[in-house]
Amino acid sequence: DLAAVLGRQRDRESAARTYARSFPVVPVHAEGLRVTGADGREYLDCLAGAGTLALGHNHPVVLGAIRRVLDSGAPLHALDISTPEKDDFTTALLDTLPPELAADCRIHFCGPAGTDAVEAALKLTRTATGRQNVLAFTGAYHGMTAGALAASGNIAVREPLADNGFNVTRLPYPYDYRCPFGVGGPRAHEIGARLVESLLTDSHSGVLPPAAMILEAVQGEGGVIPSPDSWLREIRRITATRGIPLIVDEVQTGVGRTGEFWAVQHSGITPDVLVLSKAIGGSLPLAVIVYRSTLDSWRPGAHTGTFRGNQLAMAAGAATLRFVAAEQLPARAASLGERLLTELRVLQARTHCIGDVRGRGLMLGLEIVDPTAAPDPLGARPAAPELAAAIRTECLRRGLILELGGRADAVIRLLPPLTITDAEADSVLNRLGEAVTAAER
Ligand code: PMP
Repeated sequence: DLAAVLGRQRDRESAARTYARSFPVVPVHAEGLRVTGADGREYLDCLAGAGTLALGHNHPVVLGAIRRVLDSGAPLHALDISTPEKDDFTTALLDTLPPELAADCRIHFCGPAGTDAVEAALKLTRTATGRQNVLAFTGAYHGMTAGALAASGNIAVREPLADNGFNVTRLPYPYDYRCPFGVGGPRAHEIGARLVESLLTDSHSGVLPPAAMILEAVQGEGGVIPSPDSWLREIRRITATRGIPLIVDEVQTGVGRTGEFWAVQHSGITPDVLVLSKAIGGSLPLAVIVYRSTLDSWRPGAHTGTFRGNQLAMAAGAATLRFVAAEQLPARAASLGERLLTELRVLQARTHCIGDVRGRGLMLGLEIVDPTAAPDPLGARPAAPELAAAIRTECLRRGLILELGGRADAVIRLLPPLTITDAEADSVLNRLGEAVTAAER
């Protein structure tokens, strides 16, 4: 009984539930982009496990890998003990990494979630440098545990813990539409990087010597904001010159999502630490950090955790990594992403409330604004979270699942599986277009 299931879960679960509020759907079957609800309705899932499902729901390659482990009688849980599954996953992962990092790195298997890997990265760099302060960026999202939370920029979720004892300095992220540098135009990114540099060199800036800098190459939860390659290269130069370890959080951008296997490959930079989760587990929980071996300052037992040996996740993950590489899904994400950006700009031109269209590969965002309000000096109108929520509802009515993000919860985010077909992408566009028009009325 659908209503009973929804009602019981609403009454028994925490008030912090989110997706369940946006999507009162009871999924009972899922394949690829498609999810079927208990009511028999079919939905196109452009949330896809918050970007976890690189190959969509229940991909045969992933299911086959999981079944092989189940049928083999191998232990499903192995702490951090050596196993064939772990060896295979590690080999598959190393094959995908930027060569400079792969050539001389260490891998640490973390607790199962992205936030655990962020936590490990922060702790590792603190141990290695003997420093506390962490440089992070406005609008960042790194997770919900204390350190990751402190390094995140979303005040709405952080507020109760805004001063949780972590030493974090926040720097402005290059958010072109609402340019935080106060300057528009072609030199904005250059000036943005200089601003970061000046905060680190000015002895009176008040910024403590950092243990690390952490950033997302494309901010996801912060509103789908790609950082320009030239900016990222400058940030790499600035941190390298000063011996500041650069942690790149690829929890959301990884495994082909942005059009390269890893988002750092667009700019060609090599980070000191890569933080990986979501898609690397092929829809099961898995998180690792990969870091330059020079940072390997931990003693045995310095960073433990019970759930570091999920054999099913390693098998599903290895199968996913290999499939993404073999089928050249990053290139597919890049070309389809370009087409979708073009089509979304057409939608922007024929509607009134889409202030900005942006993204990279199959990580796309539409910033919804109030079309009746006056634009600011840079041309941006105020964000319209209620209108964005209305569009999400209209999408759901038309069988399209997508979620909001961004500073004001006014950015519509598309994170479809990389396996989405052209025809499916057209259906997504049609439903979204109709939803925007309906919500504007
Ligand atoms: N970093 C980034 C960039 C993320 O997008 C997320 C999750 N949305 C996290 C970290 C945290 O991952 P998890 O929810 O698995 O803890």
